[in-house]
Amino acid sequence: MKKSHNQSLDQYWKLDDQQLNTPDHDAMLLWILKPGNLKKLITSRSSESENWDWKNVKIHAEEYIVSNSGFRVGAPDIIFLVPHYICKTCKTTHNDTNSCPNCNSEDIAPHPDHEHHYDRYFVEIKPKIENFGTTLRQLKLFISYGYDDRAYLFTKDLRFKAEFEGQGIKVLHQSSVQSSF
Ligand SMILES: [Zn+2]
Repeated sequence: MKKSHNQSLDQYWKLDDQQLNTPDHDAMLLWILKPGNLKKLITSRSSESENWDWKNVKIHAEEYIVSNSGFRVGAPDIIFLVPHYICKTCKTTHNDTNSCPNCNSEDIAPHPDHEHHYDRYFVEIKPKIENFGTTLRQLKLFISYGYDDRAYLFTKDLRFKAEFEGQGIKVLHQSSVQSSF
């Protein structure tokens, strides 16, 4: 049977990503799926996220990023959706549930437009960075499908932290939330 391009790209990443089957990877994925842990991890990196509507954040594990033409780009370990709010005073859209970051108005409401209910973020889990270039290429590909400034890498391997962050990928590490283990 002839393989489609979709299948082969998908298999390329999965085969390349042998860490997917390591106990470490599973442990980190299961940890992040436990209630409260994603919030601990993300707020350890960006304090403004403390005011997100965490009760209604949705976590999708192993969900595909699909292009407009239906092409399956790949599946980050976690895609999470953060509810959007709209300021009734200045109409700014934001994720802050306390007040509008633009005009400080507290007259805010969940975004009424179905298309704009959520901001999407992804977290890729790599216990160890086996190959910096390959990992960066994979994450940049995901980012190019609408995840600018919304890309996280969860790893125990901090050797390339500065390089990833310089490329717009925030590096998450469990030690930043270790006090809560
Ligand atoms: Zn406002």
